[in-house]
Amino acid sequence: MDISRRKLLGTSVLAGLAWSGRAVGERGAQGTTRLNTSRKRLRLRHTWTIARNSSDFKENVFVRLERDGVVGWGEAAPNVRYQQSADETLAAIESVRPLMEAGDWFQYVSLREQWERAIPAESCACAALDIAALDWVGRKLHVPLYRLFGLDAAKAPVTTFSIGIDTPEVIQQKVKETGDFPVLKIKVGTANDEQIVGAVREVTDKPLRVDANEGWHDKEQALKKIRWLQRMGVELIEQPLPAAMLEETAWLRERVEMPILADEAVTRAADIPRLAQAYDGINIKLMKAGGIQEAMRMIHIARALGLKIMLGCMIESSVAISAAAQISPLVDYADLDGNLLIANDPFAGVTVDRGRLILPDRPGLGIRERAQN
Ligand code: MG
Repeated sequence: MDISRRKLLGTSVLAGLAWSGRAVGERGAQGTTRLNTSRKRLRLRHTWTIARNSSDFKENVFVRLERDGVVGWGEAAPNVRYQQSADETLAAIESVRPLMEAGDWFQYVSLREQWERAIPAESCACAALDIAALDWVGRKLHVPLYRLFGLDAAKAPVTTFSIGIDTPEVIQQKVKETGDFPVLKIKVGTANDEQIVGAVREVTDKPLRVDANEGWHDKEQALKKIRWLQRMGVELIEQPLPAAMLEETAWLRERVEMPILADEAVTRAADIPRLAQAYDGINIKLMKAGGIQEAMRMIHIARALGLKIMLGCMIESSVAISAAAQISPLVDYADLDGNLLIANDPFAGVTVDRGRLILPDRPGLGIRERAQN
């Protein structure tokens, strides 16, 4: 790390002050370039538990780019699964500040190559820079990103609503709160899977997708579980076995009809070809990929290999969720509900109507800062 902790904290404090004082779209001096970073604690509506861990809040990092009076926002959601933290993410962004401040943001393709070379292990920091640069470009050109990419907003898919691991009573309550979301995603991967899915099935007959988050460690056990889930009307399963168990997953795939999707096993485009032998599809997330540009490459490569594509998320505010939603017309399944799990989302952007993603008809990501959070 090439920046001192004191300097880092100083940056965060200044950025924190800037946070409340600036509205999106504020006119700055012509030609002025600013890059601000800030961190924000996002409180979760319910304790969020998956096979790996449990949390009540997430600390995400925000990037604000400003030039010529136009502002672009980006977001990083550091994840312990990928050895990331807010401190490290802020330091990584800080280390490419000179590059960003001097760079031409319209040339985001070559800029991205440069920041990827400088901070290759920091995928969520890269994602925040990529999202912010593209938001800025879209706003500068007065065009929503999906239009810039040539996509039809009417083809945005339905998103699932995710139900974390909990007691059967709480899970049933959460299912009832999902209202008119037509498809649910249920987290499994613990000893109580049958109890959890059984509890969900007692209160709804909606289609279910399940995510084991690498929670099962034995292929025979996974086979038994998937056959049972098939009988419970589950339509697909994500990451039943650990990412490293590729051969076992290929073995499993030959024995079940339910599509098996890779999540933890795939981060970037280069991972995809070797996964095609073991999985039916992949779950792409901007935070793993390093942003919208790499996610687009992944979509095209997966399509060429005949794989199904899910666009997923971490716990993210409406900044990163709206960013992913911009390319959602290209995918088969969406799981873009991270912002809906947050009680104090600082932004508004993409909305949901009976599960379908509604892309805002506003430039860039189409986001707006909320007055209070
Ligand atoms: Mg997953």
